[in-house]
Amino acid sequence: MPVGGRKVPPVSVEKEHATVASTISGREVDLAGMWNRMFESRVITDYGPEGFAAIAALPGGESLEWCYGCGKCVPACPVDLVGDYGPRKIHRRVQTGTALMDDADLWLCTTCGNCLRVCPKEVDMLAIMPAVREGALSSSKVPTELQDVFEKTFRYGNALGQNPRRRGQWTENAGAKVRVLSKEPGPVDVLFYVEDYWSFHPRGQDAAKCFARVAEALGIDWAILGPEEKTVGDSQRLAGEKGLFESLVDDVTAVLGRYDFNRIVTPDPHAFNAFVTEYRQRGHEYEVMHYTQLLAPLVDQIPWARELDMTVTFHDPCYLGRRNGEYDAPRALLEAIPGVRLVEMGRCRENAYCCGGGGGGMWLDGFTRDHMSERLSERRVREAAQTGAEVLAVCCPYEVPRFSDAAKSTGHEELRVCDVIELVDEAMREGSGRG
Ligand code: SF4
Ligand code: SF4
Repeated sequence: MPVGGRKVPPVSVEKEHATVASTISGREVDLAGMWNRMFESRVITDYGPEGFAAIAALPGGESLEWCYGCGKCVPACPVDLVGDYGPRKIHRRVQTGTALMDDADLWLCTTCGNCLRVCPKEVDMLAIMPAVREGALSSSKVPTELQDVFEKTFRYGNALGQNPRRRGQWTENAGAKVRVLSKEPGPVDVLFYVEDYWSFHPRGQDAAKCFARVAEALGIDWAILGPEEKTVGDSQRLAGEKGLFESLVDDVTAVLGRYDFNRIVTPDPHAFNAFVTEYRQRGHEYEVMHYTQLLAPLVDQIPWARELDMTVTFHDPCYLGRRNGEYDAPRALLEAIPGVRLVEMGRCRENAYCCGGGGGGMWLDGFTRDHMSERLSERRVREAAQTGAEVLAVCCPYEVPRFSDAAKSTGHEELRVCDVIELVDEAMREGSGRG
């Protein structure tokens, strides 16, 4: 179903008869039907350069005008599958007069990076979109739910608007001792950067507790910042709030500078991405790992207690996989769990479909509803269900709530959505119950 109202069928210019003068004999030659199409006189349209010039003037926006229209990006774009999108289409709309800064298209890109993977001209939506969005921030067209998240992040240091003092509350009944550095300072091997959704969202907290139990069982020397932690801010940056991101970089690095640790480990691929790219570019170098990278080499030491006997499919997070090249660590963990049979979705690894949560999409489901036939998370859940798996395993904190909602709204309540770490923890426990 075309969505967005922009798909206009081509206007036929065929005529029953058309004549053209032969360039050899000079005689008029009659061309009938479809064959005269190319001889209909063309209306030549001049497109002004203003649209591209305005975007190219924004640092990061330069590459939009490099597009030469090959169209490879459109079938790669997850939004086009449920709407009418892709860099080639955005390029054409800007060329024909759309002011991207005022248009709903500006907020639909999830910065998943699948178009950049296939684009011969390196048209980079991961740089273009944040640049144009930043330019649009002063306008009234910024979706209200996004404004709300920016405000909460500014005031509380987290996207959920939670009291920062409650950051470590999940540790109280984690079933394992969790060291908080402000209370127990001193050197530590792993500084676990919990991020917002594992700190505050109930399903994220479930996963955080599982990590605590697994880390304790493995004898890992680890600690958290607790109330001193703030979001790393990568999704806010990609949604256009660069100023907020810069101030978060200052706050986060100031806190990190107080403690003595060897490496940062995080469950959040967006935080991972920010640390290894954006923070590094600003001179803040840390050894950073996703939690699956920490645990994958240790699978032989995990004290497995039982077999789970389940078929599991895995969703690659865009910012762990495509953006940072890690596809194997979460699979190594899943394949090590006794009784887990891993099946892949058709779109996986480099070509994995996006959950819709990146680039601010996590907070824009209300806004995007009017521009897509279904949510990206719903589309992905249907793909997961098609594999016949009982469990959709993820390893990004955005995805458990997104896919759990989508499983309900698509009628796939039987599909269990959980983080990889929850399955690891489950297989470490005696008995047959979960949690
Ligand atoms: S793949 Fe790149 S060059 Fe080709 S149409 Fe898309 S943006 Fe343009
Ligand atoms: S980054 Fe992803 S969502 Fe954005 S235009 Fe490219 S393929 Fe589409």
